[in-house]
Amino acid sequence: MTDVLNPATEERVATVDAHSVDSTRDAIGRAADAFPAWRAMAPGQRAELLRSFARAVEGDIEYLAQLEVAEAGHTISNARGEAGNVRDVLNYYAGGVERHLGDQIPVAGGVDITFHEPLGVVGIIVPWNFPMPIAGWGFVPALAAGNTVVLKPAELTPLTAIRLGELALEAGIPQDVFQVVPGKGSVVGQTFTDDPRVAKIVFTGSTAVGETILADAAKSMKRTTLELGGKSANIVFDDADLELAAATAPYGVFDNAGQDCCARSRILVHDSVFDRFMELLEPAVAGVVVTDPSLETAEMGPLISAGHLESVAGFLDGVDVAFTGSAPSGAGYWMAPTVVLPKSPSDRIVTDEVFGPVVTVQRFRDEAEAITMANDSPYGLSGSIWTRDVGRGLRVARGVDSGALSLNSHSAVRYSTPFGGFKRSGIGRELGPHAMDSFTETKNLFIATD
Ligand code: NAD
Repeated sequence: MTDVLNPATEERVATVDAHSVDSTRDAIGRAADAFPAWRAMAPGQRAELLRSFARAVEGDIEYLAQLEVAEAGHTISNARGEAGNVRDVLNYYAGGVERHLGDQIPVAGGVDITFHEPLGVVGIIVPWNFPMPIAGWGFVPALAAGNTVVLKPAELTPLTAIRLGELALEAGIPQDVFQVVPGKGSVVGQTFTDDPRVAKIVFTGSTAVGETILADAAKSMKRTTLELGGKSANIVFDDADLELAAATAPYGVFDNAGQDCCARSRILVHDSVFDRFMELLEPAVAGVVVTDPSLETAEMGPLISAGHLESVAGFLDGVDVAFTGSAPSGAGYWMAPTVVLPKSPSDRIVTDEVFGPVVTVQRFRDEAEAITMANDSPYGLSGSIWTRDVGRGLRVARGVDSGALSLNSHSAVRYSTPFGGFKRSGIGRELGPHAMDSFTETKNLFIATD
């Protein structure tokens, strides 16, 4: 049994049964048994079931959102958007089922065609920071491509995933095609990786756990998609719209209390506009509304847990804080948005993923140095570039080793565009037009005509 706590109040929201190794293996077995019929279903019928699932999510958005506020401390407006994202991803890949085209390749002496064959059982392991969208980015294209799914939510945030499992059944997705298996990473997650009947693992979480999953998956040659940590740069050039860059910078890092793998947690500013940028940034940070996440006005809620708050606060030992925003006191795991001026580029606050509402601001002298600083990280997930010179924006975007960049915005992840990281931010891409490919094997067939 695991207690689910409300991070804004520290009150218990629910108690959830944790699966054992044996019950996880049973779930995997049922998913394997359900695979042949799901795979064989007519594409139009599978697509219609996914659309039906989308309609069920649409009808439940407010309930799902309230659950996410309660278990994860997400602001109510973000939580509604996250439930809506699951609906949108279901509709997007429902449209892919009947369009998942193979190739016909010119060859001598016959006809050559390719098929996308589903893999079988896909195990999806989800972190606590965006429980609904991250679950959907994995299970929807996996199901659309004809696989069955076992999904493990994070220990701290299982409730929305459990509800999505119920909605799938209500929508007519056949029994055991999509199962939610709450429990510990070291038990349920490890069993997904160890069981040879699981053909692929989609893991989103820390780089440390991702490394062990990759090593363990190699033993049975499981396919893996890994979405891991980040330490992304927000690069502000001297010709940028400084007012806009400063006004939006807090939201590029403090959204979801900075517990975002895409957080732009290193702001790099051209030397000549550094002081002006800091003058503009201070009121913008002060303006972030950190409050009870169930309020419509909330822009940032609490951190996820007492342990995580302690870990994030530990990063501030001995650092120079330029200024902070505000946060409630009393019950809940609260921390004010915090802006740090690092003493050295090798400071832990600059090199490590904090995963909380903390941002560093550093100076650069020219374009080449900005790219070098942005790339001076083991991670490469996201990032932003602010300049009115489109040529420079494109050069810098090509130079930064990151998977998801935005020019003159802090664009969030879109379901219709690919998402994933370079370097230690992960392997593979989710979302976008090609996501179903990563849940299939390509089979080539040559048919002799001579
Ligand atoms: P975590 O690695 O501790 O846990 C993630 C999930 O893995 C949880 O469900 C956990 O139970 C499970 N797990 C733990 N040990 C396991 C094991 N041995 N085998 C299988 N599963 C196991 O990460 P977290 O603290 O929940 O999430 C925060 C991290 O996730 C941050 O580093 C963040 O950057 C990263 N993240 C990355 C992305 C992305 O798309 N790149 C998105 C969100 C979060």
